[in-house]
Amino acid sequence: MRVTATSSDIEKAAAVLRDGGLVALPTETVYGLGANAEDPAAVMRIFEAKGRPPSHPLIVHIAAADQLDDWAAEVPPAARLLAEHFWPGPLTLVLRRGNRVPLEATGGLETVAVRVPDHPAALALLSAFGGGVTAPSANRFGQVSPTTAADVQGELGDAVDFVLDGGPCEVGVESTIVDVTGERPAILRPGGVTREDLEAVLGHPVAVPSCSGVRVPGQHPSHYAPRARVVLVAPDEILAEAERAQEDGHQVGVFLPPHLADAPVKAHAVVALPESLAAYARGLYGFLRELDEQGCDLVVACLPAEEGLGLAIANRLRRAAGPRPSA
Ligand code: AMP
Ligand code: MG
Repeated sequence: MRVTATSSDIEKAAAVLRDGGLVALPTETVYGLGANAEDPAAVMRIFEAKGRPPSHPLIVHIAAADQLDDWAAEVPPAARLLAEHFWPGPLTLVLRRGNRVPLEATGGLETVAVRVPDHPAALALLSAFGGGVTAPSANRFGQVSPTTAADVQGELGDAVDFVLDGGPCEVGVESTIVDVTGERPAILRPGGVTREDLEAVLGHPVAVPSCSGVRVPGQHPSHYAPRARVVLVAPDEILAEAERAQEDGHQVGVFLPPHLADAPVKAHAVVALPESLAAYARGLYGFLRELDEQGCDLVVACLPAEEGLGLAIANRLRRAAGPRPSA
């Protein structure tokens, strides 16, 4: 992994956090917009910078699993098991809120989302800072998450006090959020840790939300959305739909699945999707940004099979294609 953040950058970033400032930090999933989790005023600055309603809860990032008890009021055995297996990694656990966590960070909820990110610069920052860092993705509310430091600059500019550059994100989609406050762990948002991996460790099936439903507080039907409108069609309709929309006067961008790699495409721009789901997830947000930059006003895509990382990719595509707020 390319890490461009130096140790002096880490020190500077930790100082910004201590002063109540905002630091964009690399993680293996996407770039986060971080603040001192225990500083309500700093936490509120995150919502302002993102234009995100303050009722939307944030994730508290910590340096190691052994700090979990500092942030959660109660850690059930399943949570310990999952933390042991998947941390550092793209798994967020929702637990009962510990006293250290201000209600500003949880959107007023009595639960808190916690994760140990798997990125050397993020871990170095968390260790240097010493406390927890609340961080949602470092983009304007509802937009595509940033997977490079340059994306963060483009999204937030001067609204962030310091950007720690840790190279492009390896996983590329957000963490899997698992609620461990109920009788059985349940997935609230699919992400970088697959349902199959969770089930293998827990030894029982894990429920996933229906992809169109909105179960996680603070999640919107339209989210992760580029400027271009996203239209989802069946794989065998991609070429015809792209051609039809292009003829209708749209600037069409196509997410071309590997099995159609050699097909003639009538469109303004084409992203040739990689074979592997890991590469697709890693590239997903960059592909959407690229089609925006090429001036597309419509993106035609199909959903991957909802297995492994395909579940998270399909979830993000559905929400990118979701109804947008009018105006
Ligand atoms: P983001 O990092 O921008 O994807 O935002 C953090 C995600 O974590 C959002 O989807 C929140 O809804 C979710 N989240 C944070 N805290 C909680 C919580 N206590 N319960 C359920 N979901 C949460
Ligand atoms: Mg986000």
